[in-house]
Amino acid sequence: MTGARIDELMENLAQCRRCGMCRNAVYEDRGFDGVCPVWKNSSGFETSFMRGRIQVAIALLEGRLMKTAENAEALYTCTLCGNCTAICAAEFDPAKCLESVRDVLNEIPNESRDAIADKILRYNNPYTETNKTRRDWVAEIGFDIPSTGDVLYFAGCTAGLKLTETAKSAARVLRAAGYDFAVLEDEPCCGSVMIRTGRIDSARENAERVMQSIKESGAKTVIVACAGCLKTLREDYSEYFGLDMPKVVHVVEFLESAIKGGKLILRGGDRQRRVTWHDPCHLGRALGVYEEPREIIKAIPSVELVEMTPNREAAMCCGAGGGLRSFDVSLARRIAADRVKTAEGVRADILATACPFCVRNLKEGAESISSRVRVLDIMELLSEQLEEN
Ligand code: SF4
Ligand code: SF4
Repeated sequence: MTGARIDELMENLAQCRRCGMCRNAVYEDRGFDGVCPVWKNSSGFETSFMRGRIQVAIALLEGRLMKTAENAEALYTCTLCGNCTAICAAEFDPAKCLESVRDVLNEIPNESRDAIADKILRYNNPYTETNKTRRDWVAEIGFDIPSTGDVLYFAGCTAGLKLTETAKSAARVLRAAGYDFAVLEDEPCCGSVMIRTGRIDSARENAERVMQSIKESGAKTVIVACAGCLKTLREDYSEYFGLDMPKVVHVVEFLESAIKGGKLILRGGDRQRRVTWHDPCHLGRALGVYEEPREIIKAIPSVELVEMTPNREAAMCCGAGGGLRSFDVSLARRIAADRVKTAEGVRADILATACPFCVRNLKEGAESISSRVRVLDIMELLSEQLEEN
């Protein structure tokens, strides 16, 4: 980052009025004081919410604090969910600024951050040395999927390698809706976590690799079923790296019209179920996609959509984002368990969402409190309702 941009960043950070709104903002419909999931689920120190993080960032940038891993910890115990940004009275975006601070200060050691970035550059994903296995689920769905074509389903690392039922479900649903699509042979990570955690240079190298793969596939439209991939491919590639991506859509945007147009027929289940919707931060607050998934859920016979409070632009984060799951998995799970308790509070049978990374964390949160709420990706929910099943 150039000196001019660092000056601009400092000017932005200096706008924090230290009002504490992002700690204590009270909205009658929110059910608790404040907007920060970390503040709500941690010790209550000043650095557990944005005002304290900003003070630490300024002190590190001005050299008043030594640039040590310990001193910089508060910069990383944040999911970058943007819920503080949504209520901040100052004219800046605190969550976005914190993302930039992580980049500017990335000479400060952080083992988790660097291990993830290095794995992605080396193996094309943050999870395993055998990236080619991320397409193994294709052999289990009973129909062929080419690796080139006009429409590309970009599954993402978590669906491809950890929650393959989501990838299989998305493929089944797209096919049932009558779409032909391709899946890359050696799909690379989109690099979202590198951008969020401050490894922008590595993310640029990775993004160029992703662009090349997508270009070689011939895709004119890229469909994703992960909110993180959506934000990264649709917005960050152009904003950070000036890359000109083909059209990128989330599968919920793609399918809403298919359902309304009668291309995807859904059947009811054996019994009435209450389904609540978790707004992924990258899908909702970041890109404003709120209504499409709700319309899809409402179109499923024998399902009642029940809303958690808060929801949409005020929705609480699942706890996984911004690298927090890697930096402090226990805190990430506590936040997820809290979200699941909110779903229990509206007597939901199913907590559905549209991001495998959220699903993974929420499932672990649900397990940690032995919740009866079933956490499901919306693709799995739809796949269970296909007429051909
Ligand atoms: S980040 Fe915004 S809401 Fe939070 S203390 Fe600063 S000015 Fe107030
Ligand atoms: S971005 Fe989210 S987690 Fe981070 S300080 Fe703001 S509200 Fe808290």
